[in-house]
Amino acid sequence: MKQLTNALLTAAWISLAAHGGEKLRVVTTATDLAAIARYIGGERAEVSSIATGREDPHHIAAKPSYMLAAHNADLWIRVGMELEIGYEPPILEGARNPKILPGSPGHLDASLGALRLEVPTQRIDRSMGDLHPEGNPHYLLDPLNGRIVAKAIAARMARLRPADADYFAERLKAFQEDLDERMFGKALVKELGGANLWVLLLRGRLEASLRQPGRSKLGGWLGLMRPLRGRKLITYHRSWSYFVHRFGLTVAMEVEPKPGIPPTPARLTELISRIKAERIRVLLQAPHYSRKAGEMLARETGIRIVVAAMFPGGEPQVKDYFDVFDNLTGKLEKAFRD
Ligand SMILES: [Zn+2]
Repeated sequence: MKQLTNALLTAAWISLAAHGGEKLRVVTTATDLAAIARYIGGERAEVSSIATGREDPHHIAAKPSYMLAAHNADLWIRVGMELEIGYEPPILEGARNPKILPGSPGHLDASLGALRLEVPTQRIDRSMGDLHPEGNPHYLLDPLNGRIVAKAIAARMARLRPADADYFAERLKAFQEDLDERMFGKALVKELGGANLWVLLLRGRLEASLRQPGRSKLGGWLGLMRPLRGRKLITYHRSWSYFVHRFGLTVAMEVEPKPGIPPTPARLTELISRIKAERIRVLLQAPHYSRKAGEMLARETGIRIVVAAMFPGGEPQVKDYFDVFDNLTGKLEKAFRD
């Protein structure tokens, strides 16, 4: 009996050692980062997020429970570009966990490799609203940035858990394949390869490649959005710049006169005349903004309001990173078609 117990203990110890011991504890600020980290970390990581996906990502209060989560974390991942400037410093200070402080291997700023838009070229000040001095931080709404961030997360996880490096690399490959198939459609990815399709898209050569005889049709999110290229829409906040840029839509105006500033009566009048003059069909906004301005604009102009989650958790059906785009492209396609 004693021998059996010893054998079991040894087996348990070996499997624990083989898996690099305990799971990697990851805490992210936002739910899109958590969804990607969960995919990459698989069964070797325990991932939680500070935000739930339902709140305004610019304004989150630092609660003691967040400090406790950060205290126990091996890896802290932030969006960066000053999105968390109001709440990250007090959480990290209260966490008393030197492993996850900026500059440590346990601190990952996901924006470092991301493609950035709207980086100010002039000096900015408070009169310009809640402007982000390092550029627009809502970069995960470009699926290409999701692909880039996934790679950075996999690399950092491997650095912290070298024994699991192969596992994280496998998970990354699966994530990228999954994302590419959802972006371009399965058939096309099989024919040309996901990475290659991104290169064609970025170089403006995808159309030419699609015209070649025998080529499969463009599917996925891009296939759904392709007929809408060039269409104008209004957005509430400058939340969707990366999405519209990648999918070829145009934002005519924002409802907010400046980022973070609610619309004034003068702004609403301006919006009404612009919507009428340019026959703009769609107003896109995240669920955490007030619907009042949108409802008024809808009454005056007939514009359709599309409310779509920016983050996993923002709507009940939006659970992971891919769901954000399934939901968003589906709703937009419908709103422009009807
Ligand atoms: Zn913003």
